[in-house]
Amino acid sequence: MPETAAGGAGVPTHCPYCALQCGTLLSPAGASVAVAPDAGFPVNRGGLCQKGWTAAEVLTTADRLRAPLLRGADGRLAPTGWETALDAVAARLARIRAAHGPDAVAVFGGGGLTNEKAYLLGKFARLALGTSQIDYNGRFCMSSAAAAGTAAFGVDRGLPFPVTDLAGAGAILLAGANPAVTMPPLMRHLEGADLIVVDPRRTATAARAAVHLRPAPGTDLALALGLLHLAVTEGRLDGPYVRERTTGFEEAWQRALPWWPERVERVTGVAVAELRTAVELLAAAPRAYVLTGRGAEQHSKGSDTVAALINFALALGLPGRPGSGFGTLTGQGNGQGGREHGQKADQLPGYRMITDPAARAHVAAVWGVDPGDLPGPGRSAYELLDALGTPDGPRALLVLGSNPVVSAPRAARVTERLRALELLVVCDFVPSETARLAHAVLPVTQWAEEEGTMTNLEGRVLRRRRALAPPPGVRDDLQVLHELAVRLGQPAERFPADPRTVFEELRRASRGGRADYSGIRYERLDAGEELHWPCPDGAHPGTPRLFLDRFAHPDGRARFAAVEHRPSAETPGGAYPLYATTGRLLAHYQSGAQTRRVAELAAAEPEMCVEMHPGTAARAGLTEGARARVTSARGSVHARVRLSEGIRADTVFLPFHFPGDGRANLLTGDALDPRSRMPEFKVCAVRVEPCDGA
Ligand code: SF4
Repeated sequence: MPETAAGGAGVPTHCPYCALQCGTLLSPAGASVAVAPDAGFPVNRGGLCQKGWTAAEVLTTADRLRAPLLRGADGRLAPTGWETALDAVAARLARIRAAHGPDAVAVFGGGGLTNEKAYLLGKFARLALGTSQIDYNGRFCMSSAAAAGTAAFGVDRGLPFPVTDLAGAGAILLAGANPAVTMPPLMRHLEGADLIVVDPRRTATAARAAVHLRPAPGTDLALALGLLHLAVTEGRLDGPYVRERTTGFEEAWQRALPWWPERVERVTGVAVAELRTAVELLAAAPRAYVLTGRGAEQHSKGSDTVAALINFALALGLPGRPGSGFGTLTGQGNGQGGREHGQKADQLPGYRMITDPAARAHVAAVWGVDPGDLPGPGRSAYELLDALGTPDGPRALLVLGSNPVVSAPRAARVTERLRALELLVVCDFVPSETARLAHAVLPVTQWAEEEGTMTNLEGRVLRRRRALAPPPGVRDDLQVLHELAVRLGQPAERFPADPRTVFEELRRASRGGRADYSGIRYERLDAGEELHWPCPDGAHPGTPRLFLDRFAHPDGRARFAAVEHRPSAETPGGAYPLYATTGRLLAHYQSGAQTRRVAELAAAEPEMCVEMHPGTAARAGLTEGARARVTSARGSVHARVRLSEGIRADTVFLPFHFPGDGRANLLTGDALDPRSRMPEFKVCAVRVEPCDGA
């Protein structure tokens, strides 16, 4: 058995939370398990954050669901047996589909689901339900980076190199990423580099930076154009690289030409001297990286912002150069794998476009159906949620691994749409805020109770292993999909409930696709092989580093993108004079459905807060610890004031982990990126005032 940092042994698996997927070893501890870091896993090298250390507590939370719930005639959710619940759900899905057509039923997945669940969910939607209406919460997370990365490089993998490569860098630009809080063990790989952090707040990561660029929210694209301008005008363009390995430089340069440093300073608020230092540090370092996070991506121009940062990295000759590169710090635990296997509205397994006839033919052959039987592309995540219960929209929704009442933008509107459904079915392990609205709740297993695979931010495929029997009354999501599919008239063997069998089929479905898993098997992973996709056959060693010889476009070259800066959908003014931006806290993960149930984490961050500059607070009549009401054109949030000298005076920050009237997404709007359909989580206009009765 593998050794822990402390010299013990246990079942090797991975943390249930973020995309770093830190290695852990689980050993029995009473009715649950004890978590120890796996010192042998190179990504976290024996480190875990507070969330990882306490992850076992989620398994035995007091309100863990242990029986299906059905809403009765009295309007209450009441426990029932599995057969009754599955029969009822299947019958109602079938009735709605028969009466209103297959697109009247919809599916909403999650970026934390295993590869096997993501794959079977996509197949369930397209075959068992026959619907085009499937998307997932990763649309709110990685879609801008995926769109820009695919356009530039021909394929998108969060980091096209192992995280351990970062340790050799002399300089790293982190645009809108705060790994000291969101994935702390990553910081040990960044220790040797000069960090250039782009963030409107002095975050824990920015506090360690050599240079902290603090642009106004929504101006990162102007900043990125300015960086490209400076790289060219200061003689830092890597001409041979640009000529030999890229196309489209001239068009991109024409867009950056008007972004001289003084203009960038006027628009972003970042001083010219700081811009110059950032470019100089990156250009002078023998090895350098440009990395993005949600701060740069969650905008109505998120994909153009990432594209502009890729342009800058290409101008310096970084992507595909050994020891240098461009990458994105993926967010959710299976944010990478979750988007590769067919739960996206526009994609089929293997990262194939659903509109591509060859892709449809391949996947249809694996599934044993005619390509014409596969539906076309459906609505993107927010558009899907916004259409629920409308005359042309879905009337039924099945949710797996997501809590959109808290995590979707414009939360009050989304909650209203969920309430308008004829049938809402939620698979979850606790009564999440979304589950509480459901007509049926199906209790499912958690990470330490199940087998499967996850794909972390480096495209490394990992085994999730079972260390604990699930509580009685709880089933695996794969089993749930199998049971529902059979009740909907599908052959049982088409929807296997066993993860290994599902993975075998996923391998075949991915063969020849952009994310090719066909050479990866449980046996190879269990034997300790480190496999990053693409891995096209059983003898292939996997591909830890992409693009060293060529990019994935047919001509082997990366593409510059000609992009323009534009304002955010909403900017401060009038009744809403401040920017609001949203993000994460160290103690919590996503909607908080898991971490709010862990005593230590809940004690560390018990309630909604709003971070603001002391001067801004004083002008609003607020002091540290006061209760504030933050209001946008869409609603109000109540939060405890937290003062920080390190945030811009025109900006407040709100974490998005809290429920009820602490939901940051009561403020956010529904402007979408035209390409990725990413909502604008990172910018809206608000006012802050004392909360009555505080
Ligand atoms: Fe888990 Fe991420 Fe923390 Fe690692 S950094 S322990 S994967 S939450």
